[in-house]
This record gives sequence, structure tokens and C-alpha cells, in this order.
Amino acid sequence: MAYIQFLGAAGTVTGSKHLINTCSDGNGASGLQVLIDCGLFQGPKEWRERNWQDTPVPARNIDAVILTHAHLDHCGWIPRLVKEGFRGPIYATQATIDLCGVVLPDSGHLQEEDANFYNKRNKSKHHPALPLYTLEEAQDCLHFFQAVEVGKTKQVSPELSFCFTPAGHIVGSVMAEIALNTNSHTRHLLFTGDIGRVRDQTVAPGKVVHSGPTEGETADVLVMESTYGNREHPDVDPRPELAALIRKTVERGGSVIVPAFAVERTQKFLFMLKELMESAQIPRVPVFCDSPMAIKAVEIFLQHSEDYSNEARRLIERYGSPLHWPEFTFVSTPAESKKINDNQSSCIIVSSSGMATGGRILHHLAQRLPDDRNTVIFIGFQAPGTRGFTIKNGAPEVKIFGEIVPLRAQVAAFEQFSDHADPKELLEWLRTFQQKPGETYLVHGDPAAAKQLRDRMQKELGWKVQVAQWMQKVEVK
Ligand SMILES: [Zn+2]
Repeated sequence: MAYIQFLGAAGTVTGSKHLINTCSDGNGASGLQVLIDCGLFQGPKEWRERNWQDTPVPARNIDAVILTHAHLDHCGWIPRLVKEGFRGPIYATQATIDLCGVVLPDSGHLQEEDANFYNKRNKSKHHPALPLYTLEEAQDCLHFFQAVEVGKTKQVSPELSFCFTPAGHIVGSVMAEIALNTNSHTRHLLFTGDIGRVRDQTVAPGKVVHSGPTEGETADVLVMESTYGNREHPDVDPRPELAALIRKTVERGGSVIVPAFAVERTQKFLFMLKELMESAQIPRVPVFCDSPMAIKAVEIFLQHSEDYSNEARRLIERYGSPLHWPEFTFVSTPAESKKINDNQSSCIIVSSSGMATGGRILHHLAQRLPDDRNTVIFIGFQAPGTRGFTIKNGAPEVKIFGEIVPLRAQVAAFEQFSDHADPKELLEWLRTFQQKPGETYLVHGDPAAAKQLRDRMQKELGWKVQVAQWMQKVEVK
């Protein structure tokens, strides 16, 4: 009997990894095993430690990976899987493959840096501390990727085929519709990956990828994300408030600093700044995008016009490539990054990491937080324990590079820039299903979020819904 086993993103929002196993012996020696996503556990140590555990069936016995998108919590364990012996195809859209070519080697580099850090400080209980995988190992896994077009059926084996359908989350993101033939009947499984926000410029402005998720789905088994299961996004347009904040900061001679995730979020924000500038809602001050990965992500986006939202398409048609917009400077070298500090007049700096846990944003924050003319604007989730969380919550000071930095700058936060649908939007989408799925499993959510969404789905839709548990096996009937 075939089953699905939740190897990650069950009980937490990271480490997405779901195994479809069609064999009864459970060790993967026969039958077919396919992983849907292969993500890295991030965040609390108890989850991160699971990155070191092997898969329950040996990696060499896994036949294929079907990848929904290029966020690390969905793709970041692929180099480790290959290191453990996996040699099958990794199916993804071309845009996802292009992004993985950037984010996976970067992740390998960070893994090596972490191991070096622990070795220098002698902090690891393992001697020497080893990286989960290296930059080179991450690069080596890239040749296992195979592009699959959205809407085209791909036959993996006589038992299993799949088709990608748009998820509207980030560039290249898709859901995987899977047809599984077991015991002479076909079962349809739908793995959503991450689900993007609705197509509504007022409540979710700045969306740079096309509308999703696809409506009118049908599935016997639905495996769905629940990141925002207990949080509704604000339903007011953030742009007037954002524009007023920038105007006031510039009027008092200050600068705006925006910590932002390099993939998608930075781009979304830059597009919005351009729109606000062109409509004269904010002054034409220099904008610095200080993140080499964000630059690469923009370049990849520009190669995938099939993924543009109408607004992004119009903006590019009218003003050309963002890489050449006159007010915008894309900063790639560390020397250029440091030079931004010499800029005494007002400017806007968008840099990563998004939660100010590392990266170039730290230099900018260290320099500009003590000045009360400046404004820090958060446009993404800040996990408890991160520097971003400390700043967002109005601490009087924050430690950066071992120094105490007084926090005098104004701090603001917007929740509307999320790339995940909220419960209202998810329910709206689920109502478009042709019929109720036989079983629904909620993954990719903290327990409280997943439970609240389960309760709403049971009550408002009358669906049979369970919150997936880590390592739980569920039969595909
Ligand atoms: Zn994602």
C-alpha cells in the first residue's frame, strides 16, 4: 500500500520534505520513492539538528525529487541528499532551477562559514565541526536538475506522473499535481508547496509574479501549507503610509534602511519604490540595492517573463530593466557596499539578511541606527531571537559586530508584503475546488497556526483535515 511520510515541515515551517513510497517493505529497496521538496530545517536548534539525520529510506533508493520552489526551506537539503547517495532527477521549473543555481551554492558557503566559526571558537561538540555540505557539493548537485514546464505532464514511472501548476508564491513556484496508480486505480495527490497571495493590488500590492494559485483544483489527497493559518494580513493598502514615512524621513534629512530577503521580497519592494517615485508620492532619492543575491534574483526574474504579474510587466515595459533605472544602484562588491556609508544625503538602502541576522544590512544598521533622523522599515516576518525582532520591538540598543549600538532611528513594520496567502485567501481558494478532497494534511505551519486553520476548514468547508506530524506515515487509500 502506498503511503506519504512527512519528513519535514510538520510541526514547524521549515524542512519541507514529503516522501511518497509505493512499496510495502518500507526500506525503499523496491517500488518507487519520490520526495516532494527537500528543504533545510532552519530556526530553533532542535529542528536544525534534524538536518543531520538520514532519510528513513536510504537516499540512494530515492528515485526522484519534485521541487515546488527555490526557497531554502524547500530546496536547501538537496545537496545533502546527493551527498548521501541520491542520484535521480530533480524536477523543477526552469526559473526554480536558475534560482537554485544561486541559493544552493550560497547555502553551502554559509554552511562552511558556520563550521569554520565553530572550529575557531572551539564551540562545537563535534571536532572538527563539519559543514552539512560545501559550496562545491552544492554546485555538484545542480546537474541532477531537469526542467519541467508548467502544465506539461511528466511521467516519472509507470506508477507516477505529475504536472506543475502555478502557485503564485515566488518566481518559478508551482504546486505539484500527482497521479499515482496503485492497485489498479489512480489517486490524485496535490502538494501545494507555498501558496501566494491573491491577485489584489490594494490588499496585496507589489506582487511581481503572476496570479496564483490555480483555481478549480481536484485531489483525493491534499497536502497544504499553513504558515499563516492563524494570522490575517492587514486589509489596508500599505502604500500611502509607506510613502508618508519615506517623505518625512527625507524631509528631516534622514535615510531609510530596509532589511529584506534577497529573493522576491527585495524585488517586490524595489518595484514598489519605483512606482511611488514615478507617481511623485516619494522624492527621487538614490536607492541602493545592496545584496549580490538580490541582483542575481532580479536577473533571473528578467529572464522569466512568463512569470510576470501585469503590474511588473507594465513597469518593465515603461521604464526598462530595473538594473538600469536611473535612481537605482545595484551594489555587488563589498567595496561599493562600504561606499554607501559615505553618502551623507538622504537615500534608501535595501539589503539582506531580512531578519538582520547577518549580511551587509548589519553595516548599514550599525551606522544609521544611532541617528534619529533615519527610519528602519521591516517588510518581512522577524523570528523571535533575531536582531530584527529586537529592533522591531523597540529595544533601546542592539548588539552588532560585538558593539552596543543605541537605537534612536524610527522603526516601522509592514505585514502586507508577505508572499503567503492568509487563512481568508486560502479558504477562498479551497472553495474553488471541484470537490472535497478525501483527506487533507496541513504542513508548513507552527502547531498553533496549523490547528487553527484545520478548525476553520472543518467548520467552514466541512472537510476532513489533519495536522501532519513529523515522521507520520499516512496511507494513500
Ligand atoms: Zn517559500
